[in-house]
Amino acid sequence: MEFEFPAEAEQFREELRAFMDAELPEWWKGLFHDDDRIYPFTREFCMKLAERDWLTMSWPVEHGGVDADVWSQMVVREEMWAAGEPRGPQYMSLNYIGPMLMEFGTADQQERFLKPMAAGEVMWCQGFSEPEAGSDLAALSTKATDADGCFLVNGQKIWTSYATAADWCLLLCRTDPGERKHHGLSMLLVDMNTPGITVRPIDSMGGPKEFNEVFFDDVEVPYDCLVGPRGDGWRVAMSTLAHERVGAALHARVKVLLDALIEYVTTTKDENGQPLALRPSVRSGLVRLQARYRAARLLCYRIVSAMAAGVANDVDPAVSKVFSSELNILIGNIGLDIVGARGQLTTGDGLAPLDGLMNDHWVHSIPQPIAMGTNEIQRNIIAQRGLGLPR
Ligand SMILES: Cc1cc2nc3c(=O)[nH]c(=O)nc-3n(C[C@H](O)[C@H](O)[C@H](O)COP(=O)(O)OP(=O)(O)OC[C@H]3O[C@@H](n4cnc5c(N)ncnc54)[C@H](O)[C@@H]3O)c2cc1C
Repeated sequence: MEFEFPAEAEQFREELRAFMDAELPEWWKGLFHDDDRIYPFTREFCMKLAERDWLTMSWPVEHGGVDADVWSQMVVREEMWAAGEPRGPQYMSLNYIGPMLMEFGTADQQERFLKPMAAGEVMWCQGFSEPEAGSDLAALSTKATDADGCFLVNGQKIWTSYATAADWCLLLCRTDPGERKHHGLSMLLVDMNTPGITVRPIDSMGGPKEFNEVFFDDVEVPYDCLVGPRGDGWRVAMSTLAHERVGAALHARVKVLLDALIEYVTTTKDENGQPLALRPSVRSGLVRLQARYRAARLLCYRIVSAMAAGVANDVDPAVSKVFSSELNILIGNIGLDIVGARGQLTTGDGLAPLDGLMNDHWVHSIPQPIAMGTNEIQRNIIAQRGLGLPR
């Protein structure tokens, strides 16, 4: 079995790395840092990727792509995640909101929404979770009722990433309240500048820029912003989430951290003048990480390969997501142990080992088992659909 990428994909990786070396500014530490320059920078960066046909390369030509193979697209995902995701919030529209529109959107919607995504001009957010509907998403209660020639939306979303920067929101809401909970839902495309929308940031350990509550008070949404059949929003949402879990290359950041730790332990000496790399506990930690990094990478490639062969399933993404998110936590823990007490200092503090990289990663790894559907829910999927165990 061949585990290497095709030669053209590797050549493309080199080109992409050179481009990023030239384009990423000195201050860029990653999407999840708290810095006002991030959103404007990521928009500009996406437009530059688009100019080179690298933003939506696996999309069909008619939607602004170049019909590239899935491995080239995988190279983009890996290199972007490794560099702290300089596409910013747009990774969501590129990885899963766009593909969902290709599956369920009308020709008019595709023309109107996919082109700006492919040009890197527009930011989207995802309005699914509510205070009383997270894992049990179908329990959501945000309503869209019929008004004078449009929907009138009322309700609240929570944990909406990047809502302060988003131009549009993919909103899952209830259009037919009398139906059973998985029925009567609909997917709407909502302009975030519509009157009646209030975004309230939630402060979190990840910094104040990421999470938000979004309130909808009599928000008018035109009927032509309904995606997929009315009342069939659950099917649209499940397709969106399936694309979301496939898009993640969580292993790519692990490789960056592992390389940094290897460099650190070989160049840093302990109180006896010996390199940290000679300590058995350090060596066993790094070897454990290397083995798991390789496994995580192959679990991800398995999904891509199945997609390319048209035999994708929802168990493989669940396995990959659980394994990779837990690996990200593990490398945070092992890495902080290795760099010691000063590892808790943050980026920019002159005394922080690896310029705070490990602490920064640790903080942002904690939510990974919750994001994209919690690991408990993924384990339920594996148990029921993968192992055939009863609910
Ligand atoms: C980094 C991050 C980004 C996010 N971005 C967005 C976003 O942009 N848009 C959006 O809509 N949402 C977003 N979310 C929200 C995310 O989808 C939810 O947090 C997640 O679905 C869990 O819902 P909850 O927080 O309400 O927890 P709950 O559903 O209340 O779960 C609480 C705990 O109970 C467990 N649990 C619940 N049900 C079961 C079960 N049946 N079996 C076993 N265990 C169970 C869960 O695993 C969890 O540990 C984001 C979350 C994170 C962490």
